[in-house]
Amino acid sequence: MNATLFRRVAALTLCLVALAGCATHRATAALPRHAVLLVSIDAFRANYVERGLTPNLAALARDGATTPYMLPSFPSLTFPNHYTLVTGRVPDRNGIVNNTMRDPALGRFSLSNHAATSDGRWWAQAEPIWVTAQKHGLRTATMYWPGTEAAIHGVRPDHWIPFDDTLTSRQRVDKLLLWIDEPGAKPAFDTLYFDAVDHAGHEFGPDSPQVDTALREVDDALGYLVAGLRDRGLLDATDIVVVSDHGMADVPRGNIVFADDETDLDAIDPVSWGVMATFAPKPGVDGAKAVARLLGPHEHMRCYRKDTLPARLDYGRNPRVPDILCLADTGWAITSRATLAARTAPMSRGEHGYDNLDPAMRALFVARGPDFARGVTIAPFPNVDVYPLLAHLLRIAPLPNDGDLNRVKGALAPAAAAQGQFP
Ligand SMILES: [Zn+2]
Repeated sequence: MNATLFRRVAALTLCLVALAGCATHRATAALPRHAVLLVSIDAFRANYVERGLTPNLAALARDGATTPYMLPSFPSLTFPNHYTLVTGRVPDRNGIVNNTMRDPALGRFSLSNHAATSDGRWWAQAEPIWVTAQKHGLRTATMYWPGTEAAIHGVRPDHWIPFDDTLTSRQRVDKLLLWIDEPGAKPAFDTLYFDAVDHAGHEFGPDSPQVDTALREVDDALGYLVAGLRDRGLLDATDIVVVSDHGMADVPRGNIVFADDETDLDAIDPVSWGVMATFAPKPGVDGAKAVARLLGPHEHMRCYRKDTLPARLDYGRNPRVPDILCLADTGWAITSRATLAARTAPMSRGEHGYDNLDPAMRALFVARGPDFARGVTIAPFPNVDVYPLLAHLLRIAPLPNDGDLNRVKGALAPAAAAQGQFP
């Protein structure tokens, strides 16, 4: 029995058991499923759209649904938030708690450590939607997304390639279209990832002409994607969801907090630097005084024990979060003098990772397709809601998550909003 048939029989059985549920199940089965294409423009700050440099994105919003901004989850970093978008769980509950982290059993994780990023055990605290889709018998193609290089719960996307940041934005579109063109069943779920805006934002700052150039490049690739789908007759059969993971804040030169000026770094163990610096106890060393100094007042930085973080950050219960966290004020970064001296590149002129409610961290959401309303703007919502939305579009049951489909149902076309799943 194939998966679709199985689901229909299961739904029918449910109908016989509970007659009240029949109408819902019939409605769900009757609606066609459209392909879902999730596009990330890394570090596209919500108000970048006001620059008028992204006409193709503006056209998608005009023909579809958008919001003034989407709230990232804490910490407003790339891997944690990309995993939140596809699992619906905040980083503290999806296991990707930072771009750089440690696990007692698995060792060290960092973005440049391919052995770690491709090891499914790091990702196994949650299940990304492409894995759930595959388990439902749907085909998936991921033209980059954090986690897609790993077999998570033993499952990989049908199509994926190792991350290579030398591919231009257009080349990434070409690769995805090649997969879509392959004979046989087309992917039901695709991802596409652009990092040009993030790179320019870090190196030159969010207000730089280089960010403007990157915005034009990525928008050109979006236009190229839309044209490619239209040429294939797929544009109006595809739900395109364009998001970003977080925004970008300007960091003036010299806005550095040196942790070694604030405490004794020989007595504690730094795990990660940046906007959020994290520290673990050093084995065999009494770090009490160093910790007490960190927890005291500082200019442009505030430190916490992980169990005393503000509740609204929803962070600090995961064993992968080190004991002490220091969060820089917006526009500042934390490092040590030795770490700075070892850097080959200057400090970034743009950063993210700050408090997720900071307006500079606000993210993008634009969606267009047969299941979306046309020309609507809905109220801002947290990015945990993207996952139940994707599950709804794919007609698969979402796994337990932190999101709420009701907060985003205003983005849906009436028929899509009316079907099943909404209480
Ligand atoms: Zn990012």
